[in-house]
Amino acid sequence: MAAGVVVASPYLSGKAMAAAPVSSAGNVGYYRTMVGDIEVTSLLDGGMTLGDSLMLNVKESDLEKAREDNFIKAGKEFPAYVNAFVINTGKKMVLVDTGARGMAETLGHVSNNLIAAGYSADMIDEVIITHAHPDHTNGLLSSSGAMAFPKTKVKIAARELAYWFDDKAMSAAGEKKQMFDFARTNLKPYQDKGHIETFQSGADLGGGISMVDLPGHTPGHSGVRVSDGAAQMLIWGDIVHVPALQFVHPEVSIAFDVDVDGARASRQKIMAQAAHDKIRVAGMHLCFPAVGHVAQHGSGYDFIPQMWEMSS
Ligand SMILES: [Zn+2]
Repeated sequence: MAAGVVVASPYLSGKAMAAAPVSSAGNVGYYRTMVGDIEVTSLLDGGMTLGDSLMLNVKESDLEKAREDNFIKAGKEFPAYVNAFVINTGKKMVLVDTGARGMAETLGHVSNNLIAAGYSADMIDEVIITHAHPDHTNGLLSSSGAMAFPKTKVKIAARELAYWFDDKAMSAAGEKKQMFDFARTNLKPYQDKGHIETFQSGADLGGGISMVDLPGHTPGHSGVRVSDGAAQMLIWGDIVHVPALQFVHPEVSIAFDVDVDGARASRQKIMAQAAHDKIRVAGMHLCFPAVGHVAQHGSGYDFIPQMWEMSS
């Protein structure tokens, strides 16, 4: 700038800037990152809170400490998120889970955020379902009940599909019977069209995508391993529901677990492995964009979110 040139600056003039209304546009609900040459996009479905009565195997004092350490007001429910992920291998587009459409006003944004990220339902070649709970499968149907991905194959663990369509398991489920209704309603249209494909634990689905058996939360609950050479990410589904609590206390389970002990064993095993091997993880209920590392911390772990990248 030439000496002597005076530039008007609202910051220096002391005059008020024009008043502007608070923006109601919100934040973006997608986030891209790379795993080698494979692009993974987090899609935000929305947020929710989970109350103390849902936490199992936990001390009252640990709940209060977790709130305090995470700046959550005393007595408030814990925040949790619902996410889905798009994997673009370069040869196929895979959506992992479909969000919780219709479960609450604050949820159900996977379809919008898929479009915001530049994709459409027609571009998705495969949908992988980590497990058949409604916050992962409700997005298989549109609000009118039509198939949201009418041309797409839906892949689910054979054991998972068998469980939710098992009448004996349904009648033994007591108050959790409704979960069977959701699973059947969401999967049935795809089953009727022959669009469901099952996989066995550890299956290689091609393009650097393989399945990891993480049973307990549900019988066929599965993680999705994305790898390209040495680069790796584990989309671990519902290993954690309450990030503020379950990294520090991986022994804490949640009332949604079909097999509480099995879910705890899977959580402890995969957290130890992720921390030891420094594997990047992504989760359906981690804080958006829900990608980061697990670090050993005392008898538990910390979640270290990935630094925001302007460009993947
Ligand atoms: Zn879930």
